[in-house]
Amino acid sequence: MVTVQNEDKIRIGISSCLLGENVRYDGGHKRDKYILDVLGPHLKFVPVCPEVEVGMGVPRESVRLTGEFDSPRMVGNKTGEDWTERMIKFREQRLKQLEKYRLSGYIFKKKSPSCGMERVKVYSESGRAENKGRGLWAGALQKRFPLLPVEEEGRLNDLKLRENFIVRVFAYSSLLEVFDKVRFERGEIVKFHTAHKLLLMAHSPKHYKELGKLVAGISKIKPSEFGTRYRDLFMTALKLKATSKKNTNVLHHMMGYLKKYLDKTEKENILDTINDYHKELVPLIVPLTLLKHYISKFKIEYLENQSYLNPHPKELMLRNHV
Ligand code: SF4
Repeated sequence: MVTVQNEDKIRIGISSCLLGENVRYDGGHKRDKYILDVLGPHLKFVPVCPEVEVGMGVPRESVRLTGEFDSPRMVGNKTGEDWTERMIKFREQRLKQLEKYRLSGYIFKKKSPSCGMERVKVYSESGRAENKGRGLWAGALQKRFPLLPVEEEGRLNDLKLRENFIVRVFAYSSLLEVFDKVRFERGEIVKFHTAHKLLLMAHSPKHYKELGKLVAGISKIKPSEFGTRYRDLFMTALKLKATSKKNTNVLHHMMGYLKKYLDKTEKENILDTINDYHKELVPLIVPLTLLKHYISKFKIEYLENQSYLNPHPKELMLRNHV
């Protein structure tokens, strides 16, 4: 059975202040209870505070972004001290270091001129601000690792965004394991793809088909080209949300494998539960638990091996809401 791989080794980067470290400009922190108490036991955090690491100190003058949205400058709010060049130099070195950590995700502190992932204020010369920028650190990190799952702590309060992010973190970790091997093992890649079929289908039937075609022609494409295209399509697919409509489709698909083993009442029970889920009367965990019971009872190997059944630790309870 495919389960979450090397769960204890999954590393994600994070803005240090979210872990409760007193690194903010005012000497405080922004400890996030959910990240620490719920995600904490399942992930290894790699904290980064770009402003402290670049040498601004604690406490310090707060900074802001000014100028162009796509290449802003970072300046002190009172003194106007320009930190841009130092921040650019620092981030190049730090990003190189982070490559070695093989991160599977990153959680940023929202709105920060360093760590904000999006909608960060950028001030024009007239002093007018628009929320169209990205933090100097966050922007560079996203550019260096374009497929890395990233989120802001505020957005993780949205249950659907939260589940989507966590699914991507665990899937990305497995993807790294398969593609980072010294030797390109076609068999391993086909096995990986087969195990993720239903998860892909739940997120994007379109990408699921495209990936199927790509894998079918694996022996005709150069390994490096295959790897680039596969990883890109795989992570793009998972970024799309798994809606109740798409999940319902997957549940019916799974049911198809079980039909010949079930009597009329058992089939009706499963279909009723799937229907209740589709109408958003019960959470996904309800029909899935029922299906898992029969998959295990009748030992349907293809389904037992699907990451869709266990895409993240069950303690996170990400499928327990409607
Ligand atoms: Fe440091 Fe980023 Fe937190 Fe600001 S938002 S205190 S730069 S980690």
